[in-house]
Amino acid sequence: MANPFNAALQQLKKAADIAQIDAEIVEQLRQPQREYHIAIPVRMDNGSLKIFTGYRVQHNDARGPHKGGIRFHPKTDINEVKALSFWMTFKCACVGIPYGGGKGGVTVDPKKLSIGELERLARGWARAMAPYIGPDKDIPAPDVYTTPQIMAWIMDEYSKAVGKYTPGVITGKPLAVGGSQGRGTATAQGGIYVTEELIKKMRLKNPQVVVQGFGNAGSFFAKLASKKGWKVVAVSDSKGGIYNPKGLDITKLFAHKQKTHSVLDFPGSKNISNTQILTLACDILVPAALEGVITKEVAGKIKARAIVELANGPTLPEADEKLAKRGITLVPDILANAGGVTVSYFEWVQNLSNYYWTEKEVFEKLKPIMVQAFNDVWSAGQKYKTDLRTGAYIHATTRIAAAMKARGQV
Ligand code: GLU
Repeated sequence: MANPFNAALQQLKKAADIAQIDAEIVEQLRQPQREYHIAIPVRMDNGSLKIFTGYRVQHNDARGPHKGGIRFHPKTDINEVKALSFWMTFKCACVGIPYGGGKGGVTVDPKKLSIGELERLARGWARAMAPYIGPDKDIPAPDVYTTPQIMAWIMDEYSKAVGKYTPGVITGKPLAVGGSQGRGTATAQGGIYVTEELIKKMRLKNPQVVVQGFGNAGSFFAKLASKKGWKVVAVSDSKGGIYNPKGLDITKLFAHKQKTHSVLDFPGSKNISNTQILTLACDILVPAALEGVITKEVAGKIKARAIVELANGPTLPEADEKLAKRGITLVPDILANAGGVTVSYFEWVQNLSNYYWTEKEVFEKLKPIMVQAFNDVWSAGQKYKTDLRTGAYIHATTRIAAAMKARGQV
């Protein structure tokens, strides 16, 4: 697969060229400030010792401590983590929360680990990284295949390392140990707020929605979308997808997925592949799985009128060009999926003040942030006569540049 970090750099370059962003700022943003490569020895259940490779990339902290999730995935490598870390810097700036960007990962298939092995791996990551993370330094969170339970183990291990209970070191924790109400569905909810704005701008009525990916982001997006009366006609997970032009019953689908561990063979729907799902007829396509799935070729066949990127980096730069030419509107990842990190910010604020909010308060605070960011990005797109991704990068980079200038970094 193409190197996602190169794709990320191309996105910045396009914005920098169009808005004539200071070259010294762009040069600093082209490289992460720090990269950690760690070896994590884990005692496996069969008695053997296995060494896993882990990473943390601290891309930039001009606007605040590094922030971003940790991914456990068999295909995770340093270039992926660098790209994801880079995207976090722009995502936090895009929605205006006071953080820089960071991301971590471990190359592992967590589905093949026992619960004990998973815990020892998570604790190993935390022990190795404890000197380099912290509530005012770098705050991890969940990402693909990492869970609130994993966040709790990391928080516990870090707290032991520093000798005090420190919930603010990581977000996405269970409620019992300083998690925030609403964090579980925040990425999806933020995506819904943004999609509502898009629907208004495009004057779409009763949109038909297709969701690729049924993890934390995709599954809750499908649920919230169908609750709003939008027709979710297809969804997929890593094993494949299902399609029913009349609309899927998402509540029943959740039960089916829990029982069979897959969305496939859902009664009343047709099984389809993970590539087929991207080119189905619909109004809004929501890639909510991994990066690089919308290639130039796929972009040429997409029938949706708009794309809302709930995944990080699902669209390659050549595909962006193609979509723009075909008049397909794309709401970029650094805006569309920023609801997750925004509620992570709320969680951290609650941890630091030791005062906890209701779910209602969380979403009342999330919505205006997402709506404002959408409109800022839309305006930047109009002002520079460009696509929304480039508009989002211009908007975000303006904020990062202001911080770098104020700090005397350029
Ligand atoms: N992994 C999520 C993202 O890509 C959340 C990060 C966070 O909450 O820090 O935005």
